Amino acid sequence: MAELRLVGLAKRFPDGTEALAPLDLEVPDGGFCVLLGPSGCGKTTLLRLVAGLETPTAGEVWIGGRRVDSLPPQARDVAMVFQDYALYPHMRVHDNLAFPLRMRGVPRAERERRVREVARLLGIEPLLGRLPRELSGGQRQRVAMGRALVREPAVFLMDEPLSNLDARLRVEVRAEIAALHRRTGGTFLYVTHDQVEAMTLGERVAVLERGRLQQLADPDTLYARPATVFVAGFVGSPGMNLVPARVRAGAAGPEAEAAGAPVRVPEGQRAVLAAHAGAALTLGVRPEALRAGQPPAEAAWCPRGRCEAVERLGHEQVVWVRTGADVRLAARLPARERIGAGAPLVLWAPASALYWFGPDGRLLAPAADAAGAPR
Ligand code: ATP
Repeated sequence: MAELRLVGLAKRFPDGTEALAPLDLEVPDGGFCVLLGPSGCGKTTLLRLVAGLETPTAGEVWIGGRRVDSLPPQARDVAMVFQDYALYPHMRVHDNLAFPLRMRGVPRAERERRVREVARLLGIEPLLGRLPRELSGGQRQRVAMGRALVREPAVFLMDEPLSNLDARLRVEVRAEIAALHRRTGGTFLYVTHDQVEAMTLGERVAVLERGRLQQLADPDTLYARPATVFVAGFVGSPGMNLVPARVRAGAAGPEAEAAGAPVRVPEGQRAVLAAHAGAALTLGVRPEALRAGQPPAEAAWCPRGRCEAVERLGHEQVVWVRTGADVRLAARLPARERIGAGAPLVLWAPASALYWFGPDGRLLAPAADAAGAPR
């Protein structure tokens, strides 16, 4: 196993598409890093650059202290698991697992030992005699992971390995991947567009948008202190409400307004907002921080609107509200509060839940609720 280090790694395709702006990233030996971002943000390109399936326009790839970016894929000591597991259909599971070792000329006894060990690790020993078509989707994905593991590579690259599985199986295999990482102590770089997957698996999560690294942090920090509006809106289910806000210098300090409702600026955020008076800012409030009903004295922002849709989730509900200022807000509310679509509604947020983002989309002031969170 080994650490992975990317230095100024960039990719522009011949047609001019900048798939990846220069990026620095380090995954320590035995670390688990997730690349998270929407479709087309450059995640797969980054993995392919590390694997050697794509040539970088600039930058370096280091694995275990060895520079590998000019080496062919087979000399890099990485194994990649793709979303379409691509097993050999005519080979039994055993032979699918043994194949990468045969290609490398590993002697038969050693091959057998490693195939058995990996099969035991993944709980697929009873399946060794089956053909891929005789397996379920989850079992096939386990075999595909086994084929990567059996090579004992320095770095594992996983490209949306769960995306072809149904919801229940995803949760199951996700837990298996986490356990596998603990047991093997391998260095993992894992790509997904699913923020829940990223938050549950990653020790560190790198959020990409249009080929640019937005933030690299542990899951708690991403949630509590999103560096940009993009991260704030992407992480969370639903993501943070992001509302255009106007800030003016008032007689008694900065005054703000968002979605047609005044915002009482908390003491700890006054200096930052005063410095941005007149600027177009964004107010951020997590759906789980919004409440419905008659606002109490501590309410700092009380937007009014009409309930557009309700998603009932059993223990709670997500209520979508369209405000008079034509802003759409999501509120995660307890399931017992009966709210019908079309009903007028007052929402409110406490002062401790307000985030502010600057005109460039970067975080200006986190919510006081996030103060205890790691930086
Ligand atoms: P997805 O989640 O949909 O797989 P992704 O984040 O993995 O997306 P990439 O496949 O890395 O995204 O693509 C990043 C960008 O580079 C996209 O705009 C894509 O259209 C572009 N791209 C990818 N391969 C090529 C290519 N061979 N030539 C030109 N542009 C490409």
